[in-house]
Amino acid sequence: MRQPRRTGSETRAADLRHTLEAAIFAGTLRPGTRLDEVELAERFGVSRTPVREALQSLAASGLVDIRARQGAHVASVSLPMLLEMFQVMAELEGLCANLAARRARPEQRRKLEETHRHLVDVDKENDPVKFYEANRQFHEALYEASNSEFIAEQTLLLRNRVSPYRRYITFQPGRMIATIEEHEAVLAAVLAADPVAAQRAMRDHVNLLGDNLTDFIASIPPEALTPPGERSAAARRTARILEAANEAP
Ligand SMILES: [Zn+2]
Repeated sequence: MRQPRRTGSETRAADLRHTLEAAIFAGTLRPGTRLDEVELAERFGVSRTPVREALQSLAASGLVDIRARQGAHVASVSLPMLLEMFQVMAELEGLCANLAARRARPEQRRKLEETHRHLVDVDKENDPVKFYEANRQFHEALYEASNSEFIAEQTLLLRNRVSPYRRYITFQPGRMIATIEEHEAVLAAVLAADPVAAQRAMRDHVNLLGDNLTDFIASIPPEALTPPGERSAAARRTARILEAANEAP
């Protein structure tokens, strides 16, 4: 298939989008951080048009919040909404694990085993950034092994949205060891072709329960959350959709 020709501005906007997206996922640009058009244009040596295009495209995927008079910020969510996102995340990841236990092909099972071994190796290095990355690879291998394009895509989209927050919990002391044990349970169930056990193990791994929940809440800097009483971009979007649905004839 021939790629449509891009204008110079489109290419610059796409490059900038990827750079900003990577920084948001990596947590170097934290939720709530202001994204100033002029400053970004200067920093990346581009005009303001591609900057504006990049920010608009990030806003469409929910990673950036653009408001009249306040400009663009890295999207933040309120604490209740963040907890809901993790709840949905746990169900989606559990579903992926269930499907993987039923459908994973031999090469996908091997890949799961490999990514798990890699995580165990990385754990010895005591490098949280590397650990975070290796953990991500295991989860993504599982989405792929679900052999469900739509569920895998939805899981990945939500995972990317909670990613800036998920880092806070990965970096908790003790969390890395727990992660390895929990992944082992998921892997064993998938390899044993036990969908129910795989789903439960994965849901429990992603779900924030008990001590995990309070530790997680304590680990998030307050400025990374939408303050109580203020609506996040996601909440405003939901309200708009519901309003439009009610106005429809
Ligand atoms: Zn994990």
